[in-house]
Amino acid sequence: MCGVYGVMLPPAATQEAAQLAALGLFALQHRGQESAGVAVSDGEQLMLYKDLGLISSVLDERRLPSLRGRLAIAHCRYSTTGSTVWENAQPTFRLGPRRAIAIGHNGNLVNTRELLTRLHGGRARLLASTDTELLTALLADDPAADLVDALRSVLPTVRGAYSLVVLDERRVIGVRDPFGFRPLVLGRLPAGTVGAGSAASAAPGLWGDDPSVGWVLSSETAGLDILGADYVRDVEPGEILILEAGREPRSVRFADAKPALCVFELIYFARPDSYMEGRNLYEARRKMGMELAREHPVEADFVMPVPDTGAPAAAGFAEASGLLYREGMVRNRYTGRTFIQPSQAMRQRGVTIKLNPLREVVRDRRLVVVDDSIVRGTTTRQIVGLLRRAGAREVHVRISAPPIYHPCFYGIDTQVETELIAATQTVEEICRFIGADSLGYLSIQGVLAALELSYEQFCFACFDGRYPEPVPYDAAQHKYLLEEGRTAPDDAAGAVRNPVLAGGPTSGR
Ligand code: SF4
Repeated sequence: MCGVYGVMLPPAATQEAAQLAALGLFALQHRGQESAGVAVSDGEQLMLYKDLGLISSVLDERRLPSLRGRLAIAHCRYSTTGSTVWENAQPTFRLGPRRAIAIGHNGNLVNTRELLTRLHGGRARLLASTDTELLTALLADDPAADLVDALRSVLPTVRGAYSLVVLDERRVIGVRDPFGFRPLVLGRLPAGTVGAGSAASAAPGLWGDDPSVGWVLSSETAGLDILGADYVRDVEPGEILILEAGREPRSVRFADAKPALCVFELIYFARPDSYMEGRNLYEARRKMGMELAREHPVEADFVMPVPDTGAPAAAGFAEASGLLYREGMVRNRYTGRTFIQPSQAMRQRGVTIKLNPLREVVRDRRLVVVDDSIVRGTTTRQIVGLLRRAGAREVHVRISAPPIYHPCFYGIDTQVETELIAATQTVEEICRFIGADSLGYLSIQGVLAALELSYEQFCFACFDGRYPEPVPYDAAQHKYLLEEGRTAPDDAAGAVRNPVLAGGPTSGR
């Protein structure tokens, strides 16, 4: 997943773009919890701060005030290529022969090995082991005179999923791959919300004819709300959207759009208060729950969600089935991945650390438990076990998505088919494995009926194996492809721990 964010403030605003970008990023924390970072430009040089950990611990008030400038990008990471180490945190940064750039990337590239060969014949030394680092190097080292020309030259060679925020000394640029696998939206910060000097300006038209207006890019519309920015539109698949001080946003295409938005964004990944394809995601998920109740009705005492993400679909299931809606488990919101990852033993405790059943509610009851997905099956098995130990009489599991049969190569870390329980077991076998009394999945048709949108708009590949483009053999790479035979980091690439300070006018390099 990953969350990306960008801010461009007008010349009259205070130099607080990094603070605003960090604030906006808070709305995207659910998209990645491994690391966070922000890169800022004061018009002459780039400065970057990043570290492992949650946004609140990385981008705090001790660090942000020193990151001054009116252009900023920010990123929170969920890894699909490369280990969780400091070097792989984003934004990436590279000082190339023609330009200094920083990039935040949501998605996953599928021709990484081929791109590596293109970069100085495979002899390039990279500071980090991510596909984003590789893309950053390709763009920073491209001979084109201007960054936009470099993007137009490099991006058609890049395959896979990428929603990008790119920063150079004077621009914030949003990019979406031709399929638009991952979302990216443009918002407008009204005059008066962007610091001293801007409040006197009259409200402008939508497209920034007033230079006091600021602009925002965000993975999700929830990231606009947090800054009071108005949604303007989605960045189009195959589009480069350039935000520059004193100018209205400028659009350049590098490929025709072949829309295939990840349907899992609507089912589960994105926040329920976000909007995609004109749909509020809480409402979309509630309707998926209603379809699920129609497809897999069951007699029970009440419907309960697996908190928190199963809640909208559970509400819809209850509404359509006429059953009561109750909360049967409490989620501990303060256990991050950090505590759960270190050892196998800790991982196995994951569910009990996160979820606790309400014994008085579930004891002796027949439950419909609604969740949004089953990947390996182990988490669902633990949840069913917890509810049974708490005294539940029957546990009927309902999933508001189809079974996941195929791996995702576009930004979700399920790259190995054997890790997917539905790829090797029937629904009846999965039901037995998780220990439920019954199990039902929503069909693809049910998802589409709830969304009232057409199949052609989306990627459904993990459910039906119809990838929007042929997946290169390379894509079956393991996650640590770029860590094979690693060499020492290249000093010229800026192998300096925080803060990385570099840049200056690109002319003369
Ligand atoms: S394969 Fe599945 S998770 Fe991956 S982009 Fe397509 S729908 Fe989304």
